[in-house]
This record gives sequence, structure tokens and C-alpha cells, in this order.
Amino acid sequence: MFAHYALEQLTDTWKPEHLQSRPTTLWRYRELLPICDEKHIVSLGETMTPLIHTKRLGKHFGLPKLWIKDESRLPTGSFKARGLAMAVSKAKELGLTSLAIPSAGNAATALSVYAACAGIPANIFMPKDTPAFNIDTCRLAGANVTLIDGLISDAGKIVAERKTDEGWFDVSTLKEPYRVEGKKTMGFELAEQFGWKLPDVIIYPTGGGTGIVGMWKGFEELEAIGWIGRKRPRFISVQSTGCAPIVKAWEKNNTHAEPWQDAHTIASGLRVPQAIGDFLILNAIRESGGAAVAVSDEEICDAMELLPTKEGILTCPEGAATVAALDQLVSDGTIKPSDQVVLFNTGGYQA
Ligand SMILES: *Cc1c(COP(=O)(O)O)cnc(C)c1O
Repeated sequence: MFAHYALEQLTDTWKPEHLQSRPTTLWRYRELLPICDEKHIVSLGETMTPLIHTKRLGKHFGLPKLWIKDESRLPTGSFKARGLAMAVSKAKELGLTSLAIPSAGNAATALSVYAACAGIPANIFMPKDTPAFNIDTCRLAGANVTLIDGLISDAGKIVAERKTDEGWFDVSTLKEPYRVEGKKTMGFELAEQFGWKLPDVIIYPTGGGTGIVGMWKGFEELEAIGWIGRKRPRFISVQSTGCAPIVKAWEKNNTHAEPWQDAHTIASGLRVPQAIGDFLILNAIRESGGAAVAVSDEEICDAMELLPTKEGILTCPEGAATVAALDQLVSDGTIKPSDQVVLFNTGGYQA
């Protein structure tokens, strides 16, 4: 279930020049966003995130055209703000009165603050070993927090079982259609920042996969209205060796991913044993000629040091995973020195 837009109509009426006078937030793409009346927008200042040419890091890997899109600048410090700004705004527009979410951490924090702003109660279900930052920030923002003995998939089952009786609207990734609409704006910004020419490669740390699914959808829409051509970046999905269902499915050439047993990794956003949109992620990787690779926690920790020492960018383990993947991607020839490569730093460092 996805949101659809009158793309043919937009082709004639909406042009990139129209963006020039608009504020540099994700709401500048409003023609391709699902909010009908702007008065329902719940915003904490979702700034366009910087696209940084990381020359020193690029030199280290032999990639002169290496860029980082730094999503840590968004409210609550991760790209999850994009999806939840959209989902909560739409919830407000639709008059929803109670929201529930299963989360591996950052989505819970983002939902808590946006729901607080909208005056809608938020019910959070997450693993009891979720990073303290996420548990604390949800409580500080007044959400009802339940910590469970299990993983995000178990939290999802609890929400699914109880939502009807409790009157909650389930904002699980890809179970409601609006979070992905927020996340696709990563692709819009990237396209705009590169002058409506897409890079050769996007490397993205993948948990539930909405980032990839969203950008894929966004690029299709931009092509349909004539703002970009047919070229797509090769999507490279990075997971942790402690939880790599998409990598395993990609290697076996399967359309769906089997649930991962005993998922564990310091990158909590990647600790998603089963993604609802697994087939959509795998499709985007294949259609784009991309790949899926896993990195160890140790490699992630090394990359968390390499990135700030080379570029001054402090990162979450998930963002560092994309840097950690570069070694193998360059040495096995998946990425060539001539490629223009964009890493997504999906969030900032949290103590
Ligand atoms: C949720 C999350 C991810 C995974 O993103 P998906 O789009 O769900 O695959 C990556 N990094 C961080 C920091 C996250 O919070």
C-alpha cells in the first residue's frame, strides 16, 4: 500500500525552479508529499541535510568521488525524523487519537517528540536492551514506554495483537504508508543537491529497509515528472554479520528473506531480524545492479573512529557500517575508483 500522486498533471505544472524560493526543509517537495492541508504539518525544522565531499576519507579508500549525506543533523539526531514527521502530520490530518510503534530505538524517539507536538498519545514497544538514549528520550517526551523481552519483531507482534482493543493506530514501518513518503525525501534532496543527476552508488545501512524502498519510489516519481533520467544509483545495502537477513537472501538469489535467528549487533537500527518490505528492498538492490554486504561489530567500531579522524563526522554505528563496508566493496571491484559514491550517515553519535 503506497501513496500515489497525479504525476501526469505535475509534469506540466511543477518544475525544479519552483523550489528555489522555498525553505530548505523536506516540506519543499510538498507536491509529492501526502499532506493535503499545510496547517496539519507538524514540524521541528526538518532541514535539508548536508551532502559532504569527503576527500580525505575518499583518498583513504581510493575513491576521489566519495560523499556523505549526513542525516545526523535532523531533529532527534537521525533520519527517522523524516518518516515520523510525515506519519504524525498525516495522523493529525486524519484525526487519529492514539499511535503505537514497535521500534529498535530511533523511530521511537522520533515518534515520541512529533506525537508530543501534535498532542497525540504515543505507545512505544521496544527491546529492553535498546540504547538508553532512546528509552530516556521517549520518556522525557511523555510517551508510554513498554520494554519487552525480545526484538523489534516481537514488539511488532504485541502491537498487532493489542491495537484493535486499545484503539491504537499502528505506525510500523510499511504497515502505514506515510513513513516511507518522508524517507523518500532523502532521495529528492540527493537528486537536487547533485543538480538532478544521481550518483553511481548509494550505500545504505539497512534494517527495516524503508530508506531504500523510499528512495527507490522517490526516484521513480522524479523520473515520471521528467526531473531525472532513467539512470538509478546501484543500491548497496549494508547489514551486520550478527543480523544479515537481506544479505543472505541476496546471496541466495531469493525474493524474500528468512527471519534471522539470535540477531545481535551494536548497531541497534540494523537489529531487524525480519523486514516487512524484504522483497521491496531486494527488488531495488537487484533492479539497480547493486549488492548487499555484512560487516562485523569490530569493523563498525573501527569505522566509528576512522570517520571522525578523517572528516570530523561523528556517527552512529549504523552510519559507520557504510564506511566499514568500503574495504570489501573496493577490493572485490563492486565499487570502482571512478564511481561517484554516497554513504548515508543515518544518525549521530549517542553516548
Ligand atoms: C532505523 C535505522 C536504520 C535502518 O534504516 P531502514 O530504513 O529502516 O533500513 C539505519 N540507521 C539508523 C541510525 C536507524 O535509526
